[in-house]
Amino acid sequence: MQCTVANRVSAAGVGLHSGVPIYMTFMPAPPDTGIVFRRVDCRPVKEIPANMAFISDTRMCTTIERHGARVATVEHLLSAIAGVGIDNLYVDLNGPEVPIMDGSASPFVFILQSAGISWQKVPKKIIRVTEPVMVSDEKGVYCRLLPDEGRKIEFCIDFDHPAFSDKTQRASIDLERESYFIDVSRARTFGFVSQLDMLKKQNLALGASLDNAVGLDDQSVLNPDGLRYRNEFAMHKILDAIGDLHLFGSTIQGRFEGYCSGHRMNKLLLDKLVASGSYEVLNVV
Ligand SMILES: [Zn+2]
Repeated sequence: MQCTVANRVSAAGVGLHSGVPIYMTFMPAPPDTGIVFRRVDCRPVKEIPANMAFISDTRMCTTIERHGARVATVEHLLSAIAGVGIDNLYVDLNGPEVPIMDGSASPFVFILQSAGISWQKVPKKIIRVTEPVMVSDEKGVYCRLLPDEGRKIEFCIDFDHPAFSDKTQRASIDLERESYFIDVSRARTFGFVSQLDMLKKQNLALGASLDNAVGLDDQSVLNPDGLRYRNEFAMHKILDAIGDLHLFGSTIQGRFEGYCSGHRMNKLLLDKLVASGSYEVLNVV
């Protein structure tokens, strides 16, 4: 059955890209609402459903926008929501971005679990991939969805950098057998210090620090405690993909494979899934 949170719960943090403090509250929502962001600092309050139709920007994060109000960096929270399995939720924000917390989905998982789960008397919807769908570019970057009875995700990145070895650049997860909470949710976003000035000139990464990202110089990881997983970089790309794909509106059953792809290509993949009609909607009880 569908579910929402049992209680209202709040958290505060800073926006990774905007650098501004943000206050966030999760509220129970009725069946078939889906995930709806609400900019409570706008008058009147602006609602932005977490739906691919409202994706407005995919540079460095996924941003959704409707009626002139936007919410940036939705992917880590949506990944946590998908991981916990929440179907309906209001996410109230007093600013233009979901707080980055520690750069992973783990704090959101903790907050959602603390709120408790309330079951609703309406069947959950699952999107089952029926035909392979793939998007790629001229550089060989691609991502694809394949039919599968389970929910499997594989990711491969390819950075020419001393901190990235063959083993660290690959990750895979079978969400039917392995744990999103243990194996995926703690993987943090990462970035190169050499790109920070350029990003800040574009008003991006204004809130970035080693408290909310894995930072790399030309040689190594700068965080004093090192990495949380051997393949934390590739695992974070899986975390991102789970969040971006949740903008379809329901859990997707199938196999996702990504090679060096990111938010832009995840959106193109969802567009192609819809355009090709390569899926069916299942009601599960
Ligand atoms: Zn991310």
